[in-house]
Amino acid sequence: MNIIDPPIRAETTPRHSVSAGGVTPTLDTLNRPLRDLRLSVIDQCNFRCTYCMPRDTFGADYRFLPSSERMSFEQMVKLAKAFAQLGVEKIRITGGEPLLRRGLESLIEQLARLTTVSGKPMELALTTNGSLLAAKARSLRDAGLGRVTVSLDAVDDAVFRRMSDVDMPVSRILDGIEAARAVGLAPLKVNAVIERGANDSQILPLVRLFKGTGVAVRFIEFMDVGGAGGWSNTKVITARETREIVEAEFPLVPVIGHEPAATAVNYRHADGAGEVGFIASVSQPFCGSCSRARVSADGQLYSCLFATHGTDLRPLLTDSASVEQLALAIRSRWLQRDDRYSELRSTQRRSGSGKVYPTVRMSLVGG
Ligand code: SAM
Ligand code: SF4
Ligand code: SF4
Repeated sequence: MNIIDPPIRAETTPRHSVSAGGVTPTLDTLNRPLRDLRLSVIDQCNFRCTYCMPRDTFGADYRFLPSSERMSFEQMVKLAKAFAQLGVEKIRITGGEPLLRRGLESLIEQLARLTTVSGKPMELALTTNGSLLAAKARSLRDAGLGRVTVSLDAVDDAVFRRMSDVDMPVSRILDGIEAARAVGLAPLKVNAVIERGANDSQILPLVRLFKGTGVAVRFIEFMDVGGAGGWSNTKVITARETREIVEAEFPLVPVIGHEPAATAVNYRHADGAGEVGFIASVSQPFCGSCSRARVSADGQLYSCLFATHGTDLRPLLTDSASVEQLALAIRSRWLQRDDRYSELRSTQRRSGSGKVYPTVRMSLVGG
């Protein structure tokens, strides 16, 4: 799929997103509203997860964005205001590892003051590997963060070390999860990418560990995103297979009526002791309801996780452009959006074509 950059136009007449009958959504060519922003605050990470930033690519000589090329917090807040005008209701802060960005609390404080077009407070969430969460959970909550999702692919130390390629015990991530829970960053979710032959042994231990704790575990299919060098179809354990493994020990009941744009299909334990989610991004793509825009730490707008390149918003992040001009540029890109990469890929897989596309790095654009 090729994404053609539209020219950035500095229009001066903002078109408002609120109509007499309520909020008019900004719709793309497939009628999908712009509702969520994934904002990457840094492309660096202290982990080298084999499926995201394998060390042979992201080694000592890898050139990450210098801090001068990263958006400032001021620019991020301007960006968030523009997205809010267009109907965005939720901002997820991501990376790289977002907790490596110094002073993140100050950004969160400013984002937490934003309201949506319908007058509600902006929902603020964060995705983290959890390694720095124990120290930061309270200050993040005090700054106004609403929720946290922690990525954790194993309970067993040796498997965890192999997956994350860092010398850190699982207990450090569990301390972070506990700290987040203690300060009320809820509902808390744990995301685990499952790769056949690498950590499928950890599916049941993860469910056992979090059952009854109020933390929902969600299993993600291993995706062929930029960075995932060793990806192959055979390494994907489908959401269905994972659910069958879980159900062999824990009876599950489907949760009816989840949000249309939700990525996970959720089940609850039949005994009521919490939920388990399955994210079938490869086997049952959810492009039809994808309402997510992504902005990388250097101010590029991506309309799909698998886009080959983004639209450079930096010219409109300077003082010479208004929030309304920025919103119009984002809007004009969204109106042209036709991405449905995962759906197209799954058709190709069924027809036997296994071409792998070069896409943006996951660690740059955020998961
Ligand atoms: N560093 C943070 C973390 O790990 O939570 C935030 C950024 S990370 C890129 C966001 C999410 O993307 C994580 O939950 C990670 O597991 C997921 N991810 C990265 N590469 C993936 C892949 N190849 N397939 C599926 N999920 C992936
Ligand atoms: Fe870092 Fe998150 Fe990627 Fe792992 S998944 S390498 S923690 S950015
Ligand atoms: Fe959204 Fe692109 Fe993923 Fe489809 S492939 S769900 S359009 S990010």
